[in-house]
Amino acid sequence: MNDVFTHYWYPIIAAFHQGKSALPAHLGLSCDDYYQLTERVGLLPIATHALPQYAALSLRQELIGMRDDELGELTQLLTEHLDTRKPYAEQMAQVLANASMGSQHLWRDLGMPERPRLSQLFHDYFPTLHALNNHNMRWKRFLYRQLCESGGDYVCRSPSCETCTSYEECFGEER
Ligand code: SF4
Repeated sequence: MNDVFTHYWYPIIAAFHQGKSALPAHLGLSCDDYYQLTERVGLLPIATHALPQYAALSLRQELIGMRDDELGELTQLLTEHLDTRKPYAEQMAQVLANASMGSQHLWRDLGMPERPRLSQLFHDYFPTLHALNNHNMRWKRFLYRQLCESGGDYVCRSPSCETCTSYEECFGEER
């Protein structure tokens, strides 16, 4: 099994500190959780005003705040599929939901070094979602597709993927 702190939490926090993710202040977690996790992976916590992306953070927070329902639905979906035995499991669901609100591929918005690492994260933290994505759909699209299927109206304009004009956006390679 992967060491979740080395494989997932460290790159997420390191990328956030370098301004290379779409996460809001404190990774979208409480201040305490952010400090605890950062120290757990051996990094020094950075005050929000000292982050390179500080100027963008308030706008990011505002945009996420305007999509509060969507964030709640994503968090609920992820929590339903969470392996709660994993360390900081609930926090991972929150961080991933916040990253899903970004505008790039999910692995980039989360701060993962490459897409396969994100797939491993899903395998370890959200095993049933990982198993459901058996056609290797882009992860962010896959999450929104799940929301569509449970009654939301986020990505799907067609009843079937085979006839959908957005096929490439959902299943194309994530560079
Ligand atoms: S290809 Fe079309 S129908 Fe399939 S998940 Fe994407 S948007 Fe929805």
